[in-house]
Amino acid sequence: MNKMIKKQLLFFCTLALLIAGRMMAQQRPNIVLIISDDHAYQAISAYGSKQVQTPNIDRLAKQGALFSAAYVTNSICGPSRACILTGAYSHMNGFKDNENSNFNFNQPSFAKALQAAGYQTAWIGKMHLGDSTPQGFDDYSILPGQGDYYNPWFVLPGNKKQQFPGYVTNIITDRAIDWLAKRKNDQPFCLVIGHKATHRTWMPDLEDLGRYDSVEFELPHDFYDNYQSRKAAAVQDMSIDKTLRLAQDLKVYDGSPLLGSFRIDGMTPEQKAAWHAYYDRIKVRFDKAKPTGKDLVEWKYQRYMRDYLSTAASLDRNIGRTLDYLDRSGLSENTVVIYMSDQGFYLGEHGWFDKRWMYEESFRTPMLMRYPGVIKPGTVVKDYVMNIDIAPTLVNIAHAKMPSGVQGRSFLPLLKKDKSYRSRDALYYHYYENGEHAVSPHFGIKTKRYKLIRFYKRVESWELFDLQSDPNELHNIYGLKAAAPVVKQMKAKLEAIIKKYKDADAEKILKRAI
Ligand code: CA
Repeated sequence: MNKMIKKQLLFFCTLALLIAGRMMAQQRPNIVLIISDDHAYQAISAYGSKQVQTPNIDRLAKQGALFSAAYVTNSICGPSRACILTGAYSHMNGFKDNENSNFNFNQPSFAKALQAAGYQTAWIGKMHLGDSTPQGFDDYSILPGQGDYYNPWFVLPGNKKQQFPGYVTNIITDRAIDWLAKRKNDQPFCLVIGHKATHRTWMPDLEDLGRYDSVEFELPHDFYDNYQSRKAAAVQDMSIDKTLRLAQDLKVYDGSPLLGSFRIDGMTPEQKAAWHAYYDRIKVRFDKAKPTGKDLVEWKYQRYMRDYLSTAASLDRNIGRTLDYLDRSGLSENTVVIYMSDQGFYLGEHGWFDKRWMYEESFRTPMLMRYPGVIKPGTVVKDYVMNIDIAPTLVNIAHAKMPSGVQGRSFLPLLKKDKSYRSRDALYYHYYENGEHAVSPHFGIKTKRYKLIRFYKRVESWELFDLQSDPNELHNIYGLKAAAPVVKQMKAKLEAIIKKYKDADAEKILKRAI
């Protein structure tokens, strides 16, 4: 080959590579990841809820996929977000509980990987990872800590703080849409929208006050669970009966000081007037009825459901606004949208509100995804996926470099029906916090048929459930003679999965006899 032909060949090869690179850059989809807080799948009509309609979340199910077996690695706010960001379990990313100080942003994350691959990145809304400066995001606008429902403050780059008037879910959506409108058009983007809703103390938007007042919610069949055979469940402090506070949580003000994250003092006089006009009427009715015993518990349950679902109504509406913006601006076709909660939540099951447990309602999380051209509309994904799979999946979608330390796996091959994709046969879970709500730390393994849990610190015990005959996990069969072979088998699986994910603390606890 003479020099001239060689030169020409080199030129064309380079040109072809450049064009291919360009095409890939254009094809790389945008990403919108919407993470809510404490939103139960039982409160979503696409997941079968009969008592509530969530038309906008359902749009994602109709146009994309609903994940019916999406789980979290540690069912609590900040730690779940840390797992989503890093793709690694809490013991690896270091953010084990909400009482922890700050998330270490110096570690790899999907945001940094996407940024390095040429994506514009932003996080808008609730992040709840402590006070350290976010890394991996070109722009951010985050609520400090839990943030406020009304007239919330935001932390902006350069540690600037700004207060925005109005209701938090609307403001987060406004700011997200603003960011989308102002972003550069020549780069793909990844936007995380972190909603505060539906976190305690479930303060609805003024326009949603009373939305569910005419609905009598059915009690879950295990509402009066007596926790027999489950030591840890018996000592918790998260029941609607004993833990839910009349004034703070249910807004039946009795004149005592209001504590915690419940704040109405930040409201404007107009907001306060509308708020009181609604809740004061409820207090009058409550004082007149003076419910006691079972009547009081069930009254609390109805109020809890009404406030929770009214707060969720605004969340669904604002997801709709976000989807409408993508449609209007022609972005929908080339934008992956994922909606998920940071974990599941109890809506009266076992008599509870809150989360934390490895039991299904809090271990599982709602998750839906729209990806035009890849996911067939109306798909239901039954394979196990976890919150630690989000990071590798997004990195995969963006053709970015996989960050080190990722323990989750990309489910993109599953969505593309790649035959080489192997489904998970078991899920590993570890919850650490040992404070508010008195839920004992625990870890465990779930297979399709069984769930084995080891509680430690507050309560030292084992639990085994046969999910086929006991899907609501009411009968702990650990210790029964007939269950011995299953216990042996499940303990071996647990030991192996602990080793696989390098959870040294759990490995030590496993060796302790109880
Ligand atoms: Ca949460």
